[in-house]
Amino acid sequence: MANSKIVMGIDDIPMWASIDRHRLELQTCDDCGAIRYPPAPVCPKCLSEKATWTAVSGEGTIISWVVFHRKYFDDHPPPYNSTAVELDEGPIIVTQLQGDEPEGSWIGKRVRLGYAEHAGRTQHFARLIATPAGQA
Ligand SMILES: [Zn+2]
Repeated sequence: MANSKIVMGIDDIPMWASIDRHRLELQTCDDCGAIRYPPAPVCPKCLSEKATWTAVSGEGTIISWVVFHRKYFDDHPPPYNSTAVELDEGPIIVTQLQGDEPEGSWIGKRVRLGYAEHAGRTQHFARLIATPAGQA
């Protein structure tokens, strides 16, 4: 078994560099404003090649999650989770919820990204955001 590895295509380099700086920058299309994720050479909506790397808010909503009880990588001893978060800007990223976990379903819970060193690289993770009483 081995540690997990990042996927590093040529279009991903600026995103991973931003994560190293503890922020998440994604491509915003200069022609239609769509945010590209995963990073790509052209906009999936209008096929423009022009984009500007822009920091996202880092806040979003959990839309799915799974807890693994089997070991796939040495750097992810079970149990660990993979959590899909829809960022407020629209893209869906997969990260790991750290800290307090919701009781019952995690879907709909608000989170904020944080950054930490993991297996020799910087990665984002999510933490729950306190919500006003009565809201999901
Ligand atoms: Zn576009």
